[in-house]
Amino acid sequence: MKKITLQGILYDEKSSFLKGPALAPPKIRSLYNSPSANYFAENGLEILPESFDDKGDFEVRTYFDIEKLTYENIKSNNPLLTLGGDHSITYPVIKAFNRVHGAVDLIHIDAHADLYDIFEGDKYSHACPFARIMEEKLINRLIQIGIRTLSIHQREQSEKYGVESFEMSQLDKLPSLKLRNPVYISLDMDALDPAYAPGVSHHEPGGLSTREVLNIIQAIEVPILGADIVEYNPTRDINDMTGMVCAKLFREIASKMSQNN
Ligand code: MN
Ligand code: MN
Repeated sequence: MKKITLQGILYDEKSSFLKGPALAPPKIRSLYNSPSANYFAENGLEILPESFDDKGDFEVRTYFDIEKLTYENIKSNNPLLTLGGDHSITYPVIKAFNRVHGAVDLIHIDAHADLYDIFEGDKYSHACPFARIMEEKLINRLIQIGIRTLSIHQREQSEKYGVESFEMSQLDKLPSLKLRNPVYISLDMDALDPAYAPGVSHHEPGGLSTREVLNIIQAIEVPILGADIVEYNPTRDINDMTGMVCAKLFREIASKMSQNN
């Protein structure tokens, strides 16, 4: 079985509201190894720490650093799992990813579309990564799930870039989604309802349950070449609840990567 390349990005400089996601990668690793749970995913695969080619956690200063280290880490051509960090990291990760895999389809699960052309004067804000990714044509399809905060500008951006949007209020349309090509998954933890995942910077009620996110991941039948889990903010968590949700989703994504690739 192919190993999964694992990297953590200790970076939250592009968070617009609160800092904290830079603390997430070591926290998720330690909760993944918590004796309170085992390593079995729901598909029956055991995802032990040895399943990963773990490159460690990286302190970075700019998105150029993130692109460079991601490119170094994925030369092996194994599937890539990245722990963030705020959502701004996805743009440089995808830039590097594109150099190895070309333009793949991307499933973006989030309360927010993150399609601002510019946010508070910053084109690289965590509110902008998918505008950068789309204008540089780094991916093929962008499929957004769980969105519930579209502004007029972001609705225009969504149309301009041909985003396939499954807003939270239209989740019943999700079964119509057809995947044909390998995918990358970008999972912003605030896609979940704050009742399930309070440890995020932006509490956006009316979101996905943990089970709904699991169902979305488990329904993917095409290869998963890469994924990231971003925006977990341990400083806002309660009894590591959100951290354990991250660990669970991490295990389920890794098991799907192993199963489908
Ligand atoms: Mn986001
Ligand atoms: Mn978000």
